[in-house]
Amino acid sequence: MLGAIEAGGTKFICAVGEADGTIHERIQIPTTVPAETMQRVVEFFQAYPLEAIGVGSFGPIDVNPESPTYGYITSTPKLAWKDYPIVQTLKDAFAVPVGFTTDVNGAALGEATLGAAKGLDSCLYITVGTGIGAGAIVRGEVLEGLSHPEMGHILLRRHPNDPYQGKCPYHHDCLEGLAAGPALEERWGEKGIDLVDRHEVWDLEGYYLAQALMQYILILSPKKIILGGGVSNQPQVFTAIYQYLPELLQGYVHIPELSTYIVSPGLGNDAGITGALLLADRALTKN
Ligand code: ADP
Ligand code: ZN
Repeated sequence: MLGAIEAGGTKFICAVGEADGTIHERIQIPTTVPAETMQRVVEFFQAYPLEAIGVGSFGPIDVNPESPTYGYITSTPKLAWKDYPIVQTLKDAFAVPVGFTTDVNGAALGEATLGAAKGLDSCLYITVGTGIGAGAIVRGEVLEGLSHPEMGHILLRRHPNDPYQGKCPYHHDCLEGLAAGPALEERWGEKGIDLVDRHEVWDLEGYYLAQALMQYILILSPKKIILGGGVSNQPQVFTAIYQYLPELLQGYVHIPELSTYIVSPGLGNDAGITGALLLADRALTKN
């Protein structure tokens, strides 16, 4: 039996299941302070004979096995979780191997194995929600390096008619600062869900996301791109991306037909938790 955690900034989803993606049981736990949230996580898993645990976590996190703070949530703005050793806490409680990567890397692994990119050894998973982040599978492995990619914070060409200053506390008008849910809300004065009929909102959203996707395509050459997160629930986002991306690429690189290349998650809302199960399985086989 495998344990899986999708550790998010507002809630933790915990599940027990199998390497084929079967989920036997799951719960949601609000993300409050580590002592409280992790106690409930441990209580949930204690009822099962776990062999390994996989964690896809909000971050930034330390994924470098050589680092003294490997397995920590590091410089997160959620201050109670700053410098929190989540992997060690789980190892202390269960004495099993723990797989650990970002939430979006986990979702990318789920989609590449059992979702929209099933059978491919390469894909990109991008979420556009409270923040923007992306994870990648390259040659079948989760992409990590010095640390993990932070693809939500790339710089873009500003739309000439967009005076909005941007919402990222670090970079102001990076991709996340211009195009994540809270940026939409601040720029347009209403929540994304209430802006459905405003064409200009989704046109601008696609204008920025298409630029980001162009760069990911040029740098990583993913075989499939999966676009998830709350904001991507708006079909107009896809429509605008499908319009702007070819204009940007100008046929320089060949990509498949867009409606089959840039798609919604095949696993729906379960991409992250399924990926976490697969991380657990990989941790088990590695040990
Ligand atoms: P999180 O990123 O916190 O995991 P979500 O992916 O649901 O959660 O993203 C939440 C953000 O997405 C909020 O800013 C919310 O306003 C926006 N959002 C959620 N659903 C929709 C929707 N259907 N249309 C547009 N925006 C949405
Ligand atoms: Zn930024």
